[in-house]
Amino acid sequence: MERHKVQHNINTDETVIKINGLYKSFGELDVLKGVDLTVHRGENIAVLGKSGSGKSVLIKTLVGLLKPDKGEIMVLGKQVNKLHRKELDELRLRIGFSFQNSALYDSMNVYQNLAFPLTMNVKNLSKKEVNNAVEEALDAVGLKDKIKELPADLSGGQRKRIGIARTLILNPEIMLYDEPTAGLDPITSTEINDLIVEVQQRYKTSSVIITHDLTCAKNTCDRIAMLVEGEFLKVGKFEEVLNLDNKQVKEFFNYNFI
Ligand code: ADP
Ligand code: MG
Repeated sequence: MERHKVQHNINTDETVIKINGLYKSFGELDVLKGVDLTVHRGENIAVLGKSGSGKSVLIKTLVGLLKPDKGEIMVLGKQVNKLHRKELDELRLRIGFSFQNSALYDSMNVYQNLAFPLTMNVKNLSKKEVNNAVEEALDAVGLKDKIKELPADLSGGQRKRIGIARTLILNPEIMLYDEPTAGLDPITSTEINDLIVEVQQRYKTSSVIITHDLTCAKNTCDRIAMLVEGEFLKVGKFEEVLNLDNKQVKEFFNYNFI
């Protein structure tokens, strides 16, 4: 099923993420062992790899939630690990991070869930400005009619959309999605994958998408990167990575195509 092909002009001169020789261990466990990655403005990159391979660890280092043991991470022109607290907070406002299990606030309705990060981070907004921003973000995810609902009254796919809307409210330049379709049925997953493309086109974001969904990797993403034993063997087009002569890569694709 090929519903969307990404169409955009990539300014290959402009790098929004550059990771060089990234290492990260937890005690005896060496998770990342020399990861390199360059993401250009407007690109969608899929990160694949089996569970526990370090995908979440990798994107957490991008926003300074985890400190690498070694290596350089440049995001939007800033060296993430050299930033002071305030500078890091400012950088994070330019990055939308859709966490693996990003929960909405159950006691708040959709409007409040979206308005909260906005009013926390941007001072002196008028009520009208907040309302407009909430409506715009809800429009982007196709759920304007759910503005007064509580999270408990939404489906899994709708909650995911509201979670994405909540990150869009700050108009991010980069989106990081950690398994956005985990736990969703195939149809809802396809809808979320389509939404990622729509968001990318509407907000002109660059995205790193951790996913096990090969349709997403193939159709939503410009290039894919597979974490194998703490490294990306190659960051390239879907077919280039699919055809790599590597036992673990072959196993991964064989298993996931069944
Ligand atoms: P995945 O590819 O499934 O997202 P993760 O990046 O979450 O994998 O984790 C990679 C490995 O690092 C796992 O073995 C995990 O248990 C370990 N790990 C992740 N975060 C921590 C942490 N904060 N402390 C100790 N170990 C961690
Ligand atoms: Mg993970």
